[in-house]
Amino acid sequence: MSVQVFGLPVSRGVAIGRAVLVASSRVDVAHYFIEPEQVGTEVRRLKRARDQVCREFEALKLGVQGDAPAELVALLDVHLMLLNDDLLASATCQWIEERQYNAEWAVAAQLETLSRQFDEMEDEYLRERKADLEQVAERLIETLARGERATGVRASLGVASDDVPLVLVANDISPADMMQFKGGVFRGFVTDVGGRTSHTAIVARSLDIPAVVGARDASRIIRQDDWIIIDGDAGLVIVDPSPMILEEYRFRQRQGQLERDRLARLRHRPAVTLDGQRVELLANIELPADAAAALEAGAEGVGLFRSEFLFMNRGGHLPDEEEQYAAYREAVLAMRGLPVTIRTVDIGADKPLDRMTLGDLRHEHSLNPAMGLRAIRWSLADPGMFTVQLRAILRAASHGPVRLLVPMISHPSEIRATLDMIARTRAALLTEQVACGEVLVGAMIEVPAAALMLPVFLRHFDFVSIGTNDLIQYTLAIDRADESVAHLYEPWHPAVLGLIASTIRLAREAGREVCVCGEMAGDADFTELLLALGLRSFSMHPSQLPAIKQRVLLTEVTSLEALVAQVLSSEDPRAVWQAGRGRSLLGAAAHAA
Ligand code: PEP
Ligand code: MG
Repeated sequence: MSVQVFGLPVSRGVAIGRAVLVASSRVDVAHYFIEPEQVGTEVRRLKRARDQVCREFEALKLGVQGDAPAELVALLDVHLMLLNDDLLASATCQWIEERQYNAEWAVAAQLETLSRQFDEMEDEYLRERKADLEQVAERLIETLARGERATGVRASLGVASDDVPLVLVANDISPADMMQFKGGVFRGFVTDVGGRTSHTAIVARSLDIPAVVGARDASRIIRQDDWIIIDGDAGLVIVDPSPMILEEYRFRQRQGQLERDRLARLRHRPAVTLDGQRVELLANIELPADAAAALEAGAEGVGLFRSEFLFMNRGGHLPDEEEQYAAYREAVLAMRGLPVTIRTVDIGADKPLDRMTLGDLRHEHSLNPAMGLRAIRWSLADPGMFTVQLRAILRAASHGPVRLLVPMISHPSEIRATLDMIARTRAALLTEQVACGEVLVGAMIEVPAAALMLPVFLRHFDFVSIGTNDLIQYTLAIDRADESVAHLYEPWHPAVLGLIASTIRLAREAGREVCVCGEMAGDADFTELLLALGLRSFSMHPSQLPAIKQRVLLTEVTSLEALVAQVLSSEDPRAVWQAGRGRSLLGAAAHAA
């Protein structure tokens, strides 16, 4: 019988496929597929790691014998036994052989399967052995991660080896893991946790893959290999659907594709409103390779290059100046003379560096990471790393128009320190006679403090870009990644709209460019409102661009001016807007009749 699981719709469309469950773990687990011919090597890698952990346990046992309590020695015996038990040893190899998972993923997948069996055990003593199993598996994963990684990664598959489409189900997927899946391995994503603008959701949208997050028990209800439908429009996951439901969703998939093909024809049309207002539509990208999709969608430049994604999945070392320079240059060249806005790293909160790299940088794990050492705070706390990034960006600017964007800046002292670092880095490059280019420097407005003292920002920066995802999070004190408060995450909140409206107005009055690069820019429900607030520059995932362009083409901005004034003074802006739009659409229909 089919089961329905509800969550938050975060990336539109329908995906149908077999579930691949990715276990959550307290340690970093790399997830990737290996090439079929790599299976033998990967199994040997796993066995080497297991032998290594066995030797460590034996050495520990020898070391503690004599003066340690008998329980400790017995515990080490249990760990050794678990490590060599077929349920862990050979079953893990099967994940590698049959599914072509990398060894770390195989261990995590088998841990998940065994954990479920332990949870169902009647005997309390046996049930409690789950913790031992977790410790053994995590030690094995850590040992694997310290060693060599498989080289033959199958990155660009849309389906499993037997041509069955796959969808990913997990308690949580880190943005770093999402990036590993960027090659198109999965047709859809479901997670138990997460909010609409969590970075996992953002990456799913950037992949243009249907996704549902915050589906609470999904990873417990759905079993490995279940057929599931992900309805990314409704936030619904259907497990084991009936043939009739499957047919209905296959029809919707075909309709979705037809709509996308229709919108794609707008690609070369300039974005101009019905009353002649020219609007700039830019792309948000995570990696230089995304520039191709940006051009394909008709973007007029990159409004947000989230450079922190270059810093993820690094296995303990950060990209150096040459590597970063090559990546930024690649994006600049790919955009063929169109501007590329590179945001300096926004590491921290729900985009942590992997634990090995964190260890090197000695940044403590914070209890409240969204409020902690994140984005520009991180960069200023690590001037060496920041200088390397600034050098790479300034050098890339010698190949085409580059804008430098500073995330989460809110303090006058941060403004001074940042601009000073940029000036000093430029001076050093000039002294060294290293080619570099002019850059416009902009600030992201994503903390209420920044929006409230916008004139100061406008005095110091060439442009501003509103990061609505964080501006909403910080204005309303709602963790954007926490599904339990997702219902309070409200772009229509009067305080949020007030800050967006004043930022756009003040920037325009000062003759400074203002863009919105948060998720609101790619949400067609807000296009008319943002246009009416005076916004003329939107940056979004390339996949969202055609639908937003269509909205722009159908909007008459002047006719919305009176309504937007009412919206801004209302306690319930959404209701006022919807009532006003309903009336004007009816009026237009009557006029046409
Ligand atoms: C934002 O906060 O709106 C934004 C664009 O930055 P990010 O989503 O990467 O935090
Ligand atoms: Mg942000």
